[in-house]
Amino acid sequence: MNRAVYIETYGCQMNVLDSELVAGQLEAAGYRIVESAAVADVVLINTCSVRDLAEHKVWSHLGRLGVEKEEGRKDLIIGVIGCMAEREAEAIVKRAPQVEIVCSPSRLDRLPILLQNAIENHQFQRATAGHSQRSGVTPSDSADDLEALDSARSYVRAATSAQAFVRVTRGCNKLCSFCVVPYTRGPEVHRPPQLIIDEAKRLVDAGVIEVTLLGQTVNHYAYRAGEVTTSFAQLLWRVHEEVPGIERLRFVTSFPRDFDDETLDVMARSSRICRYLHLPVQSGSNRMLQLMNRGHTIESYMALLERARQLMPDICFAGDMIVGFPSETEGDHALSKELLRVAQYKGCFVFKYSPRSGTVAHRRYPDDVPDVVKKERNLELLDIQSEISLAHNRNKIGQAFEVLVESQSKLRAHGNNELVQIDGLRGASSRKARLVARTRGDEIVAFDGDASLVGTSVRVRGVDATPLTILARLED
Ligand code: SF4
Repeated sequence: MNRAVYIETYGCQMNVLDSELVAGQLEAAGYRIVESAAVADVVLINTCSVRDLAEHKVWSHLGRLGVEKEEGRKDLIIGVIGCMAEREAEAIVKRAPQVEIVCSPSRLDRLPILLQNAIENHQFQRATAGHSQRSGVTPSDSADDLEALDSARSYVRAATSAQAFVRVTRGCNKLCSFCVVPYTRGPEVHRPPQLIIDEAKRLVDAGVIEVTLLGQTVNHYAYRAGEVTTSFAQLLWRVHEEVPGIERLRFVTSFPRDFDDETLDVMARSSRICRYLHLPVQSGSNRMLQLMNRGHTIESYMALLERARQLMPDICFAGDMIVGFPSETEGDHALSKELLRVAQYKGCFVFKYSPRSGTVAHRRYPDDVPDVVKKERNLELLDIQSEISLAHNRNKIGQAFEVLVESQSKLRAHGNNELVQIDGLRGASSRKARLVARTRGDEIVAFDGDASLVGTSVRVRGVDATPLTILARLED
């Protein structure tokens, strides 16, 4: 029977890619992917554990699905995949008996078999990796079972959008003291460069024009084959040179400590690599950075921004900040405000510290900044960034520039102060619509145009600005 599967995705771009790959894998196994849980035989929730709030949302979602199953949809199969599946497997078994599948991010290649077993035998299926017990840095590896998931990508599915993610590394070895990712996605694994290039070529053949290379610390990529190591700068250059059909090449997320000048040089001499860097700083205070185990200082971070700006004056930066990390004083917070003013990001994600069990910060440092103070500091940083972003976007008024049209306008909030497109499918019928697009610097642009422009590059001229969006009109 051609069962219908609905996948709900929470969290980061890595989860978005995982959901796409899982969808392709299940389609190949004979399932139908549907756009609504209401018509599905199987609901898979791809979860995020980065903040407490993200996990709360999943628990309530599971509660609602449990009630539906209880009240009539007896055959509904509910699965939890993603970071919570690895981190909270025991709790899911206890608190959510309606869940029949638990599958961690590094075991997704096994999902079709788990699903088949759940359908045929009505028995609980679990595939987790034990990363949550990890106690230190494991040497980076260059091979893993999960390669099968990326390698079996569905290019028919990828062709529905002009944009695609390509994974270059899985997992993380940085062990920032606040972060659960090393315990949910496991040790760093680097994919062979040739597989990455082949995947990018096939995406371009399928009609993709923008490729984003993904890694938790993408610029830490280093693939070893015998005596030869391919660095991130070399990989970036090879993708740029060997896949000329990519009109826009991006990469996220960069780890400041590992960002080398070779990568900046490759960016500067490769016109199709977007002039954009997401470089999370997390705090403006060196004392906080040390407690966070980030491995960079404010001085080394600002020197990196400076070098990048010297080589590429038009480059845009985005940052991440955490407020209310344990023991953060007003003095530390003042340094974070100062950093925003000096860094001049085009946008910055600001988050309140959320203690996560299993992390070093949770074990060692009491969560001693009251929530009311975290909220105030959060708002203060957002207000400062809002002024900076508005001034940044106003610079585009009167200028003509190229954008890639991502979707018809259906903007929604992402994090605290950003907007993301949520409907990037091509093939819209011809009709006037408000369109959402992105510059090469990752600035969001809205303008009126024909819906059939989704998935194409066009020239627009800036006419107005808000902190989040450049308003524009289509150039003749
Ligand atoms: S680099 Fe740090 S913040 Fe980023 S995923 Fe790894 S541990 Fe988490």
